[in-house]
Order: sequence, then structure tokens, then C-alpha cells
Amino acid sequence: MSAGRAIACAEIAEWLDAYVDGEAESCPGLSEQQFVDHLVVCRDCLEQVLLVRRLKRLMATRVAPQEAPWHFRQSVVTQVVQTALSDQTLWQSESVWIERS
Ligand SMILES: [Zn+2]
Repeated sequence: MSAGRAIACAEIAEWLDAYVDGEAESCPGLSEQQFVDHLVVCRDCLEQVLLVRRLKRLMATRVAPQEAPWHFRQSVVTQVVQTALSDQTLWQSESVWIERS
């Protein structure tokens, strides 16, 4: 089943980043096959790999240039809505609108 010795969860954890980045072969004394063999039998490590992979993908899209302004816009919209809601009693009153305009 395995091309090498079985590796421990601690080793998976230590080289998780490298494995997710497709650089398992650069891990000293480990091969990608050993990672795969462990992940097939260890659900905890498999979940870690999937989690890190998802996080990396998420971070890759978050740092895209068009994402920052979207976040900024979103926070501005949220603040405007919150202000409007807290100010609801004022702008619901017709007389206030007339006085203001
Ligand atoms: Zn494990």
C-alpha cells in the first residue's frame, strides 16, 4: 500500500502547507505518496488539508485588487443602513422632512 514508511499526524501537520502548495516532494524524507497514504486513513489530517486548501483559495481571491473596494463599499453601505435605521423615527415623520427641506 505504501511506497515508504507510514508517517505520523505531527509530520503531516508540519508539512501541511508544503503539501497543499504541491511541494510535498521538497519535504525532507517525505514523498507525496506518503502524504496520500496517511490522508486516506486519517480523517483528521484530511480535514486539515481541505481546510488549509480552502483558506488558501479564499485568501487568493481576497487579495485580488477588486476585492478591497468591495469590502469598503460593503462597510459603508452597512453604516448607512444602520444610521438610517437608528434615525428611522426622524425620517418617518413628514413634518421633519418639510422642516429640513
Ligand atoms: Zn493524521
